[in-house]
Amino acid sequence: MDALSQGVFEGDLTCAELLQQGDFGLGTFNDLDGEMIVLDGQVYQVKSDGSVLKPDPSTQLPFATVTFFRPDQKISLDKELSYAQIKDLLDAALPFKNIFYAIRIDGKFSQVTVRSVPPQWKPYPDLAQAISEQRIFQKNDLAGTIIGFWFPHYAKNINATGYHFHFIDRTRTFAGHLLDARLISATASIQSVYKLNIALPKTANFDSTDLTQEQHVIIPEK
Ligand code: ZN
Repeated sequence: MDALSQGVFEGDLTCAELLQQGDFGLGTFNDLDGEMIVLDGQVYQVKSDGSVLKPDPSTQLPFATVTFFRPDQKISLDKELSYAQIKDLLDAALPFKNIFYAIRIDGKFSQVTVRSVPPQWKPYPDLAQAISEQRIFQKNDLAGTIIGFWFPHYAKNINATGYHFHFIDRTRTFAGHLLDARLISATASIQSVYKLNIALPKTANFDSTDLTQEQHVIIPEK
Protein backbone atom coordinates (compact mmCIF):
# COMPACT_ATOMS: atom_id res chain seq x y z
CA MET A 1 0.00 0.00 0.00
CA ASP A 2 2.89 2.38 0.73
CA ALA A 3 4.31 1.61 -2.72
CA LEU A 4 0.93 2.01 -4.43
CA SER A 5 0.43 5.36 -2.71
CA GLN A 6 3.77 6.51 -4.16
CA GLY A 7 2.79 5.54 -7.69
CA VAL A 8 3.97 1.94 -8.02
CA PHE A 9 1.22 1.10 -10.50
CA GLU A 10 3.09 -1.81 -12.08
CA GLY A 11 3.32 -5.37 -10.79
CA ASP A 12 4.15 -8.73 -12.34
CA LEU A 13 1.37 -10.85 -10.79
CA THR A 14 -1.34 -11.94 -13.25
CA CYS A 15 -5.06 -12.29 -12.60
CA ALA A 16 -4.69 -16.07 -13.11
CA GLU A 17 -2.00 -16.21 -10.41
CA LEU A 18 -4.10 -14.02 -8.11
CA LEU A 19 -7.02 -16.45 -8.34
CA GLN A 20 -4.75 -19.20 -6.98
CA GLN A 21 -4.66 -17.18 -3.74
CA GLY A 22 -8.37 -16.46 -3.39
CA ASP A 23 -11.80 -16.26 -4.98
CA PHE A 24 -12.95 -13.03 -3.33
CA GLY A 25 -11.44 -9.59 -3.04
CA LEU A 26 -10.50 -6.27 -4.59
CA GLY A 27 -7.61 -4.36 -6.09
CA THR A 28 -6.50 -2.55 -9.21
CA PHE A 29 -4.64 -3.27 -12.46
CA ASN A 30 -1.33 -2.18 -13.97
CA ASP A 31 -1.29 1.52 -14.90
CA LEU A 32 -4.10 1.84 -12.29
CA ASP A 33 -6.43 0.92 -15.16
CA GLY A 34 -9.68 0.66 -13.23
CA GLU A 35 -11.05 -0.96 -10.10
CA MET A 36 -10.81 -4.72 -9.52
CA ILE A 37 -13.51 -6.90 -8.04
CA VAL A 38 -13.03 -10.62 -7.42
CA LEU A 39 -16.28 -12.42 -6.69
CA ASP A 40 -16.98 -16.17 -6.75
CA GLY A 41 -13.67 -16.76 -8.52
CA GLN A 42 -14.24 -14.27 -11.36
CA VAL A 43 -12.14 -11.12 -11.82
CA TYR A 44 -13.98 -8.00 -13.00
CA GLN A 45 -12.35 -4.79 -14.26
CA VAL A 46 -14.26 -1.52 -13.98
CA LYS A 47 -12.92 0.94 -16.53
CA SER A 48 -13.09 4.69 -16.02
CA ASP A 49 -16.07 4.93 -18.41
CA GLY A 50 -17.99 2.70 -16.00
CA SER A 51 -17.93 -0.40 -18.22
CA VAL A 52 -17.34 -3.75 -16.49
CA LEU A 53 -15.07 -6.26 -18.26
CA LYS A 54 -13.70 -9.71 -17.55
CA PRO A 55 -9.97 -9.12 -18.07
CA ASP A 56 -7.69 -11.62 -19.77
CA PRO A 57 -6.12 -14.01 -17.21
CA SER A 58 -2.67 -12.68 -18.22
CA THR A 59 -3.58 -9.11 -17.18
CA GLN A 60 -1.09 -7.93 -14.54
CA LEU A 61 -1.70 -6.00 -11.35
CA PRO A 62 0.27 -3.97 -8.79
CA PHE A 63 -2.06 -4.40 -5.80
CA ALA A 64 -4.90 -6.66 -4.76
CA THR A 65 -6.21 -8.37 -1.64
CA VAL A 66 -7.96 -11.73 -1.91
CA THR A 67 -9.04 -14.63 0.26
CA PHE A 68 -10.94 -17.86 -0.18
CA PHE A 69 -14.19 -16.59 1.27
CA ARG A 70 -15.47 -18.85 4.03
CA PRO A 71 -17.67 -16.74 6.32
CA ASP A 72 -17.89 -17.66 10.00
CA GLN A 73 -20.64 -15.18 10.83
CA LYS A 74 -23.75 -13.85 9.08
CA ILE A 75 -25.85 -10.88 10.11
CA SER A 76 -29.12 -9.82 8.64
CA LEU A 77 -29.49 -6.15 7.72
CA ASP A 78 -33.22 -5.95 7.17
CA LYS A 79 -33.93 -2.25 7.42
CA GLU A 80 -33.00 0.85 5.47
CA LEU A 81 -29.44 1.83 6.33
CA SER A 82 -27.03 4.55 5.26
CA TYR A 83 -23.41 3.64 4.46
CA ALA A 84 -22.36 5.05 7.86
CA GLN A 85 -25.00 2.93 9.60
CA ILE A 86 -23.84 -0.20 7.75
CA LYS A 87 -20.30 0.42 9.02
CA ASP A 88 -21.59 1.03 12.57
CA LEU A 89 -23.42 -2.33 12.52
CA LEU A 90 -20.33 -4.07 11.16
CA ASP A 91 -18.22 -2.42 13.89
CA ALA A 92 -20.51 -3.98 16.48
CA ALA A 93 -20.34 -7.39 14.77
CA LEU A 94 -16.54 -7.65 14.38
CA PRO A 95 -15.55 -9.48 17.57
CA PHE A 96 -11.87 -8.46 17.73
CA LYS A 97 -10.01 -5.46 16.39
CA ASN A 98 -6.53 -6.98 16.00
CA ILE A 99 -7.23 -9.41 13.15
CA PHE A 100 -8.33 -9.02 9.53
CA TYR A 101 -11.86 -9.46 8.21
CA ALA A 102 -13.28 -10.23 4.78
CA ILE A 103 -16.83 -8.91 4.41
CA ARG A 104 -19.48 -9.65 1.79
CA ILE A 105 -22.89 -7.92 1.79
CA ASP A 106 -25.52 -9.27 -0.63
CA GLY A 107 -28.75 -7.36 -0.92
CA LYS A 108 -30.99 -4.69 -2.36
CA PHE A 109 -30.00 -1.05 -2.43
CA SER A 110 -31.98 2.11 -3.12
CA GLN A 111 -28.80 3.92 -4.13
CA VAL A 112 -25.15 3.03 -4.78
CA THR A 113 -22.33 5.42 -5.70
CA VAL A 114 -19.05 4.05 -7.02
CA ARG A 115 -15.94 5.37 -8.70
CA SER A 116 -13.26 4.20 -11.04
CA VAL A 117 -10.01 5.77 -12.16
CA PRO A 118 -8.53 6.39 -15.62
CA PRO A 119 -5.25 4.66 -16.58
CA GLN A 120 -2.04 6.49 -15.69
CA TRP A 121 1.12 6.90 -17.74
CA LYS A 122 4.79 6.95 -16.74
CA PRO A 123 6.21 8.73 -14.92
CA TYR A 124 3.31 7.75 -12.68
CA PRO A 125 1.80 10.35 -10.33
CA ASP A 126 1.13 9.38 -6.71
CA LEU A 127 -2.12 7.64 -5.80
CA ALA A 128 -3.87 10.73 -4.43
CA GLN A 129 -3.14 12.62 -7.67
CA ALA A 130 -4.39 9.70 -9.76
CA ILE A 131 -7.57 9.33 -7.68
CA SER A 132 -8.28 13.04 -8.11
CA GLU A 133 -9.16 12.09 -11.71
CA GLN A 134 -11.78 9.58 -10.53
CA ARG A 135 -15.08 9.23 -12.37
CA ILE A 136 -18.17 8.79 -10.20
CA PHE A 137 -21.23 6.72 -11.12
CA GLN A 138 -24.54 6.41 -9.28
CA LYS A 139 -27.43 4.00 -9.72
CA ASN A 140 -30.79 3.68 -7.95
CA ASP A 141 -32.87 0.61 -7.08
CA LEU A 142 -30.51 -2.28 -7.72
CA ALA A 143 -29.42 -5.61 -6.30
CA GLY A 144 -25.78 -6.43 -5.82
CA THR A 145 -22.84 -7.27 -3.62
CA ILE A 146 -20.45 -5.23 -1.50
CA ILE A 147 -17.02 -6.89 -1.38
CA GLY A 148 -14.28 -5.85 0.96
CA PHE A 149 -12.04 -6.01 3.97
CA TRP A 150 -11.39 -4.49 7.35
CA PHE A 151 -7.75 -4.08 8.33
CA PRO A 152 -6.44 -2.93 11.74
CA HIS A 153 -4.49 0.30 12.11
CA TYR A 154 -1.15 -1.48 12.60
CA ALA A 155 -1.41 -2.84 9.02
CA LYS A 156 -1.42 0.67 7.54
CA ASN A 157 1.78 0.25 5.51
CA ILE A 158 0.58 -2.87 3.74
CA ASN A 159 -3.13 -2.28 3.20
CA ALA A 160 -5.95 0.26 3.50
CA THR A 161 -7.02 0.35 7.15
CA GLY A 162 -10.57 0.26 8.41
CA TYR A 163 -13.15 -0.67 5.78
CA HIS A 164 -12.35 -0.81 2.06
CA PHE A 165 -15.26 -1.85 -0.13
CA HIS A 166 -15.94 -2.35 -3.80
CA PHE A 167 -19.37 -3.08 -5.28
CA ILE A 168 -20.80 -5.01 -8.21
CA ASP A 169 -24.45 -5.29 -9.16
CA ARG A 170 -26.25 -8.56 -9.86
CA THR A 171 -26.17 -8.02 -13.65
CA ARG A 172 -22.36 -7.47 -13.45
CA THR A 173 -22.69 -4.25 -15.46
CA PHE A 174 -22.35 -1.62 -12.70
CA ALA A 175 -19.39 -1.71 -10.32
CA GLY A 176 -16.51 0.19 -8.76
CA HIS A 177 -14.85 1.37 -5.56
CA LEU A 178 -17.73 2.02 -3.17
CA LEU A 179 -18.24 5.66 -2.17
CA ASP A 180 -21.78 5.57 -0.80
CA ALA A 181 -24.74 3.23 -0.49
CA ARG A 182 -28.24 3.19 0.84
CA LEU A 183 -29.31 -0.33 1.75
CA ILE A 184 -32.86 -1.67 1.79
CA SER A 185 -32.24 -5.25 2.95
CA ALA A 186 -29.19 -7.51 2.90
CA THR A 187 -27.17 -10.25 4.52
CA ALA A 188 -23.64 -9.49 5.64
CA SER A 189 -21.23 -12.43 5.73
CA ILE A 190 -18.02 -12.01 7.72
CA GLN A 191 -14.85 -14.08 7.68
CA SER A 192 -12.23 -13.73 10.43
CA VAL A 193 -8.73 -13.92 8.95
CA TYR A 194 -5.65 -14.79 11.03
CA LYS A 195 -3.05 -15.18 8.30
CA LEU A 196 -1.63 -12.78 5.73
CA ASN A 197 0.68 -13.71 2.84
CA ILE A 198 2.28 -10.88 0.85
CA ALA A 199 3.67 -11.13 -2.68
CA LEU A 200 5.79 -8.10 -3.59
CA PRO A 201 5.97 -6.77 -7.18
CA LYS A 202 9.02 -7.96 -9.09
CA THR A 203 9.28 -4.76 -11.17
CA ALA A 204 11.81 -1.96 -11.63
CA ASN A 205 9.05 0.46 -10.65
CA PHE A 206 8.83 -1.20 -7.19
CA ASP A 207 12.59 -1.76 -6.79
CA SER A 208 13.43 1.92 -7.39
CA THR A 209 10.84 3.31 -4.97
CA ASP A 210 12.01 4.67 -1.59
CA LEU A 211 9.84 3.07 1.08
CA THR A 212 11.87 4.25 4.06
CA GLN A 213 9.62 7.21 4.76
CA GLU A 214 6.35 6.97 6.64
CA GLN A 215 3.43 7.33 4.24
CA HIS A 216 0.10 8.86 5.03
CA VAL A 217 -2.18 6.71 2.93
CA ILE A 218 -5.71 7.85 2.33
CA ILE A 219 -8.23 6.06 0.16
CA PRO A 220 -10.56 9.03 -0.36
CA GLU A 221 -14.20 8.30 0.39
CA LYS A 222 -15.46 11.24 -1.67
ZN1 ZN B 1 -10.90 0.58 -3.73
